[in-house]
Amino acid sequence: MKPLGPIPAGYAAIDGELVIGGRKASDLVAQAGRTPLFVYSADLLRQRAAALRAAMPEQLSLHFAVKANPYAPVLQVMSELVDGFDIASAGELTLVRAAGIDPALISFAGPGKRDDELEAAVAAGVTLNLESEGEAERALAIAARLETKPRLAIRVNPDFDLKGSGMKMGGGAKQFGVDAERVPALVRKVVEAGAEWRGFHIFAGSQALDAEAIIETQAQTLKLAARLAEESGVPLPCCNLGGGFGIPYFPGDKPLDIQAIGSALKEQLAHLPEVLSGTRFCIELGRYLVGEAGVYLTRIVDRKVSHGEVFLIVDGGLHHQLAASGNFGTVVRRNYPVAIANRFDCPVEEEASVVGCLCTPLDRLADKAGFPHAGVGDLVAVFCAGAYGATASPAQFLGHGPAAEMLV
Ligand SMILES: *Cc1c(COP(=O)(O)O)cnc(C)c1O
Repeated sequence: MKPLGPIPAGYAAIDGELVIGGRKASDLVAQAGRTPLFVYSADLLRQRAAALRAAMPEQLSLHFAVKANPYAPVLQVMSELVDGFDIASAGELTLVRAAGIDPALISFAGPGKRDDELEAAVAAGVTLNLESEGEAERALAIAARLETKPRLAIRVNPDFDLKGSGMKMGGGAKQFGVDAERVPALVRKVVEAGAEWRGFHIFAGSQALDAEAIIETQAQTLKLAARLAEESGVPLPCCNLGGGFGIPYFPGDKPLDIQAIGSALKEQLAHLPEVLSGTRFCIELGRYLVGEAGVYLTRIVDRKVSHGEVFLIVDGGLHHQLAASGNFGTVVRRNYPVAIANRFDCPVEEEASVVGCLCTPLDRLADKAGFPHAGVGDLVAVFCAGAYGATASPAQFLGHGPAAEMLV
């Protein structure tokens, strides 16, 4: 039997059933009128943000990386909880603005921004995290045409990456950001062109569970920001320190020690070099803020035995939960936290694999794991579904269409 990932804190059983946001899984499905269904808990979003605020230095701003979960009701809750929103496309800009979020709180990163995207962002007063000299030129030309002062920051490709991170996004040759040694010249160019200078964006990686690695990266990031500010000869208004805070998805994963990160960062910010004394700092997080607050519920439509192995076949699959199937950014397939939602407090009775309804062997939500005996009609819960679930899965694949979503 293969182990399952750890079920996040905050989920309990009532009458044997998984409860999300105070409501039983079967009630939520009844309200939605169908499965598969993503349910996000506003309480868990609030608790997570509060715990993070309490651990981090008071002056540190908290940004939400919208790509982790752009569902409108989630954005609405997040707008009460964070200080800024990081977007990666004009499509996300539309979603964030529709949630009533002030464009002055939005920053836009991403390689390959089209001219129409740059224009929409500049016109709205969004901060652009410039990814190249070419993009800087296009943004300045668009701003000149619109006769507006663009808000420009520079994404720095740091000369280090976040150790142990699931996805490296800095260090060496990268499509992201401007190589550190070329940044000072670009800062001067942008400032001389009359832009509103907003500072640096330095993002070194994602999904790290090792607090020491994040502490080290933040220290290196501050050093790099100081060096580049010094060399560019222009005061640095803001510095986005990136994020990379991971959540436990797989067996053996341990929650990140945010107290340790917060204390170390407090120390760092209390002893800044002179050149950073007027700089404001933020971090940008996606999965850490929303990942554990979401559950994907899918119904078993068939139970089969093949060559002695039990298969629980559900009405969802990798077209909604690509990450749980092991096909999104993981090398070795390991099990996510998965449970039978309407037998949440039952002991393990058998080994079974939970597979989706797609005609591909890749569509496996749990591989040879231990479950209570389950059959047709029972509900399967996949946890850690609040980030990169609905938004990062190929919902059109095989024509089943997207899952329902609900905030409770
Ligand atoms: C994806 C991304 C994030 C969010 O990553 P998480 O691992 O979800 O925290 C933050 N910043 C940038 C620039 C990103 O590309």
